[in-house]
Amino acid sequence: MKEPGQGPAEPRRPAPAQSSFGGLCPACRHARPVTSAKGSTFLLCGLAAVDPAFPRYPPQPVRTCAGHEPGPLR
Ligand code: SF4
Repeated sequence: MKEPGQGPAEPRRPAPAQSSFGGLCPACRHARPVTSAKGSTFLLCGLAAVDPAFPRYPPQPVRTCAGHEPGPLR
């Protein structure tokens, strides 16, 4: 078994583009990335479809949210 700090570094996967948003949405199971025709990526909140209290495209970064449920982006 390798000790910490020994051996070659583990290969790193590139961070997904969505991680640049920060805040809660990138780690919320209700969020879904949507890419526009111009190549910009937005996060769509799935709760907006069932609850008008949630904006369809919440301004990022979202720091507090009553609907946040930890999970990966879909
Ligand atoms: S529920 Fe809140 S944290 Fe989750 S995607 Fe919607 S706005 Fe973001």
